Amino acid sequence: MQFIKKINHALPLNYQLIRFITFFILFVARAFMWVMPIFFAIIFIKPQFVFNYKETLRKLRIHHTALSQGPVKRYVETFFKARINQATHISGECTQCGNCCLNKQCVFLEPIEDDKFQCGVYNSPFRKLSNCGAFPISSEDVERYECPGYVFNQYPVIKIKNAN
Ligand code: SF4
Repeated sequence: MQFIKKINHALPLNYQLIRFITFFILFVARAFMWVMPIFFAIIFIKPQFVFNYKETLRKLRIHHTALSQGPVKRYVETFFKARINQATHISGECTQCGNCCLNKQCVFLEPIEDDKFQCGVYNSPFRKLSNCGAFPISSEDVERYECPGYVFNQYPVIKIKNAN
C-alpha cells in the first residue's frame, strides 16, 4: 500500500516535468532552428546541410512540426522510464519503409531504390542519442507508425480460476 501511495504521489510530478521538458526542447529547437543546418553539417560531417541551407531549413520546419506531435514527449518519457518497455514482446525486422522516421518527414531521411529509405546519419554516434535507436519498444510504437516490419506479440493472459 505504501508503495502504491508513493507512485500516486510521483506520477503527477513526473507528468508535469515531462510536459515542461518536452515544451522546453521544442521551444529551443524552434528558436535555434536557423543555426541547425550549420550544427548538423559539423557534427554529422555533411556540408550539404549548409550548401542547401534554405532546403534544409524547410525540411527542419516540417521535422519540427512532426516532432511536436508526440516523438519528443515519447523521448522524454523513455528517458524518465515513464513508458513501458515491451521490446521483448516485439519480433520482426525493418523493411526500410520510412514510416517511423516521422512518417518519412525526418530531415535526415534519404530515399533509396524500390521506395525504400535509409537514415542519412545512421552511422553517426550522435544518432544513438536520439529516439531512433529505441524503436520500436512498445505496441504503441508499432501501431503509431503502422510499422509493417515488426509485430507486437500479445502477453499471454493468465486467468484466475474459480476454486468453487
Ligand atoms: S516503420 Fe518499421 S519497417 Fe518501417 S522503417 Fe520503421 S522500423 Fe522499419
